[in-house]
Amino acid sequence: MQSVFEKPFTRQEPIPEAGIERAVEIMRTGKLHRYNTDEGETAESALLEQEFAEYQGVPYCLACASGGYALHIALKAAGLQPGEKVMTNAFTLAPVPGAIHNAGGVPVLIEINSDYCVDLIHLEKMMLESESKFFMMSHMRGHLADMDAVVELCKQHRVILIEDCAHTMGATWDGKKSGTFGDVSCFSTQTYKHINSGEGGLLTTSDEEIIARAIMHSGSYMLYQRHGTVPDEETFNDIRLDTPNYSGRMDNLRASILRAQLPLLDENCKRWNELYDAAETALKDVSGIELPVRPDKEYYVGSSIQFRPRELKKPEQIQQFLSSCAKRGVELKWFGSHDPQGFTSRYDSWRYLGEAPVLPQTLKILSNTLDMRIPLTFHLQDIALIASIIDDELAKATAAT
Ligand SMILES: *Cc1c(COP(=O)(O)O)cnc(C)c1O
Repeated sequence: MQSVFEKPFTRQEPIPEAGIERAVEIMRTGKLHRYNTDEGETAESALLEQEFAEYQGVPYCLACASGGYALHIALKAAGLQPGEKVMTNAFTLAPVPGAIHNAGGVPVLIEINSDYCVDLIHLEKMMLESESKFFMMSHMRGHLADMDAVVELCKQHRVILIEDCAHTMGATWDGKKSGTFGDVSCFSTQTYKHINSGEGGLLTTSDEEIIARAIMHSGSYMLYQRHGTVPDEETFNDIRLDTPNYSGRMDNLRASILRAQLPLLDENCKRWNELYDAAETALKDVSGIELPVRPDKEYYVGSSIQFRPRELKKPEQIQQFLSSCAKRGVELKWFGSHDPQGFTSRYDSWRYLGEAPVLPQTLKILSNTLDMRIPLTFHLQDIALIASIIDDELAKATAAT
């Protein structure tokens, strides 16, 4: 009998009991809206903002409706004007180009390298050619590029850096937290990210005007002083009248379950990495598999792993391999498919951006890039079984080529 893996790849851990209790308490009061507070009371959403700002070591945080929403208002708050260009990596999730489009920007796609990071040579070339003043850098699947070099390039070319930290909450580069390199940074608390409120987003910055505009955009009305981290009243003088309300607040219910998860985040990142490191070690032993190199300065959060089966060159071979793994319970996603599926899409399928550029390096790397989620509901034995199934099925698929 062939071994089969039986656990779902999309099962998260339960919300900590403290979060459930707090959420129930809030529901009993009916005070779910973040501005529905009694005299002297600080709303749960505001407390989350204070706690996440403290976690990141930055002065300001805004809790909002989703990660994609945070990216959208980050661009607006950073001063993007309609029709202006925004550089972003070609390998990312659809909410990133979507946020640029929503903010009225025109994406300029940048090549990635074989370690899934933005290609710094292409980035500089496009900074010069496009004269774009914004770089929305997506740390896609948790891969951090050389952040010192990125910051230096942005400084040199006067580019505003916006970090998409959807997969790097808890990660660091050379000991400095991901999300503290850019002018503004965005996080997601959607179920499959590192803290889970179903949907939700967090925006952080050290810039007073950016946070003031972001707070106004998020739909604060004239209640902005009730936020958890607020700059001086004067900062709002013009901003409160000049900034449109794009209604996208976080409610107290979500904030309460996030607050209970934040103290566990660092420990959970370590647990993810134990599983990731086991998967990486096991897959390194599988003949014909290529894995990205992770630099010493990068402290990643291994909530997913990417790898490339070198011998499977044709789309049909990859499809065949994926379906034989799936039959044995191992769910892999393929970033090279020309037909977008599930959460996964290749950059040339974002047709609303107009004619897609040809990015040969990115296309080549994605052509056989496979992706596997690593939920915390897995154990080390699960990883061993998954790796043995991949080994087995890859050997068969390779023999058939
Ligand atoms: C999930 C995700 C987002 C957007 O987050 P939502 O909260 O789902 O809007 C942005 N970028 C990346 C890379 C993501 O994976």
